Amino acid sequence: MSENLEKLTNEILKCEACHLKERRTKVVPGIYGPKDGLCFIGEAPGYYEDQKGIPFVGRSGKLLDKMLESIDLVRESDVSILNIIKCRPTDNSGNNRTPNEKELRFCGERWLNRQLEILSPKMIVTLGRISLQFFSRNASVTRLAGKILDTESKYRIFVTYHPAAVLRNYAPIDEYISHFEKLKQIFVNDNLDLDFNVNKQQKTSKEKGEQKSLTDFFE
Ligand code: URA
Repeated sequence: MSENLEKLTNEILKCEACHLKERRTKVVPGIYGPKDGLCFIGEAPGYYEDQKGIPFVGRSGKLLDKMLESIDLVRESDVSILNIIKCRPTDNSGNNRTPNEKELRFCGERWLNRQLEILSPKMIVTLGRISLQFFSRNASVTRLAGKILDTESKYRIFVTYHPAAVLRNYAPIDEYISHFEKLKQIFVNDNLDLDFNVNKQQKTSKEKGEQKSLTDFFE
């Protein structure tokens, strides 16, 4: 980890700038892969992440790890995994809740943007609506999933689903697999010239007749 990133991470770990500090167990700064690499961005820590101080370690994280493994990538050594919010948002009963716009802007601008400045990712992969809308306020995951976002953002942003959406069957696993296959074309095969127009996509696993179900990932 670079000296700047280490310094920033230490600041994040000590953050007391908002009310989320009151109910958190641990701050979850994120894990860092190589500079100029691939950076996955989720929403906020949930119960397990809050306990461990590590992003995506619950069921969603297991699916994310399996998806990475399917394209020969490993967290930390190959990719960065961050959240927009660094402390778990909870409701009055202590359950996870979706962070609100104010929390997202406050934490995202204070910490995530600075992490990204240092990491300077070649590509950001937004996981789900909340993450996508941090970079492009009115963008729709349904419309853009599997594509590169066309915005003025200084980052190249690839849009996909949150793993929790796939686990809840709101998003099809086959489509998710095809998104990771595209990422593989870019990163493992180093092919930056892909045409991401949805009508001209490469054949997906499904089209190739390799239909997968979620149980294939949790044996
Ligand atoms: N969901 C997220 O968005 N981030 C995590 O770290 C875990 C679950």
